[in-house]
Amino acid sequence: MSTPARHTPNKVVVIGGGYAGALAANRLRIRTDVDITVVNSRPEFVERVRLHQFAAGTGEATVDYGTLLGEGVRLVVDSATRIDTAARTVRLASGRALDYDHVIYAVGSTGAIPSSVPGAAEFALGIAELESARRLRARLEELPLDAPVTVVGGGLTGIETAAELAERGRAITLVCGRILAPSFGARGRRAVAKWLSRHGVVVLEAAVVSEVRPDAVVFADGTARASALTIWAGGFGVPELAAASGLRTDALGRLLTDETLTSVDDDRIVAAGDAASPSGRPLRMSCYAAGPLGAQAADTVLSRIAGTEPAMIDLAFSGACVSLGRRTAVRQLARKDDHPVNAYVGGRVGAAIKEATCKFAVSRIRREARKPTSAMWLKGGSRPEQPAPAPRGAASP
Ligand SMILES: Cc1cc2nc3c(=O)[nH]c(=O)nc-3n(C[C@H](O)[C@H](O)[C@H](O)COP(=O)(O)OP(=O)(O)OC[C@H]3O[C@@H](n4cnc5c(N)ncnc54)[C@H](O)[C@@H]3O)c2cc1C
Repeated sequence: MSTPARHTPNKVVVIGGGYAGALAANRLRIRTDVDITVVNSRPEFVERVRLHQFAAGTGEATVDYGTLLGEGVRLVVDSATRIDTAARTVRLASGRALDYDHVIYAVGSTGAIPSSVPGAAEFALGIAELESARRLRARLEELPLDAPVTVVGGGLTGIETAAELAERGRAITLVCGRILAPSFGARGRRAVAKWLSRHGVVVLEAAVVSEVRPDAVVFADGTARASALTIWAGGFGVPELAAASGLRTDALGRLLTDETLTSVDDDRIVAAGDAASPSGRPLRMSCYAAGPLGAQAADTVLSRIAGTEPAMIDLAFSGACVSLGRRTAVRQLARKDDHPVNAYVGGRVGAAIKEATCKFAVSRIRREARKPTSAMWLKGGSRPEQPAPAPRGAASP
């Protein structure tokens, strides 16, 4: 009598339960023979697109994973410290280790306060992570309304932060370091500048902060400006897990992959979201891209399990949206390659679009839990024409 073959589920460990990782985990449920574990360093999902609201006290930014992850997806609240590709385990800060057949690397991004600016790491507060946004909220709660606050960074995060606080009646200076909203077209940029000026925000476009003191910021030309609180909203970093695991990364530390999101070093590791650098040409760090990349990373893993050829990533942009307080936003329109055109949607319609996109980013994860592979996105964006480098040290499922 022959013994029936033992069925071993494919173990997939998703590192990072953000917009990319949570969606990827839910999508993998299309197969019933996949054992899915999400490792996330925090017990709740962070809606990072709302962290400026959270810091200003105008909104919340966390969601219970119980409402997001589909049945059967296991959540482990811990931090991955190393992917041991030889042993095929993910080592965790707690000392535990998780075996895997495939990893989805979705650790996202972080704020980046430069150590090259004296006092910045010591006295400035970040906005890009839940913990720093909490510290910021606490400091703001004890700070008199008329105390001067400086926001460093003229990109979308800096603008949203400055606007949210200005609408609450705070005295804000926005230091851009170059130009305001560099990713926007001229008209969209003017609309942002007009709103900020109407709400009393002092915008210093070309000024560069060269030092942060407890009560002031110092500019590159030596002048100083009073600042009771300095918020650093310039630049993103990424967790160092890929490099710490001996996997090749781009200069910022994003995992280097081919156009199927597969690590160029190991075909059992697939990246998604802000931490992915396909062909060394990463897409714009955004929750707009993170969801679709999460879906495509899951599809790559599903293809590997099925023994079929994974598809190349396919995602088009349509623009970016910056909120200006709770009643206005500027939706900059862009070509599919993310290049801005000289047109925007502003005012309350812009605000409605912005709120809808923030809600959609979360509801899409929930829908994927109810109906795996239901997520849809705009396709047809431009990607490198050359095929990406072939994976090295390829392992088969
Ligand atoms: C204030 C603000 C406003 C923004 N507004 C917009 C916007 O309007 N539109 C837009 O498209 N984008 C916006 N963004 C950017 C957007 O939030 C990010 O691009 C998006 O969150 C990336 O998604 P992700 O899934 O790749 O990573 P994340 O959302 O960063 O999730 C990564 C997850 O991985 C976990 N993690 C990290 N390291 C480890 C580890 N070692 N072990 C276990 N878990 C780990 C983290 O805890 C986190 O939960 C904004 C960002 C900020 C800060």
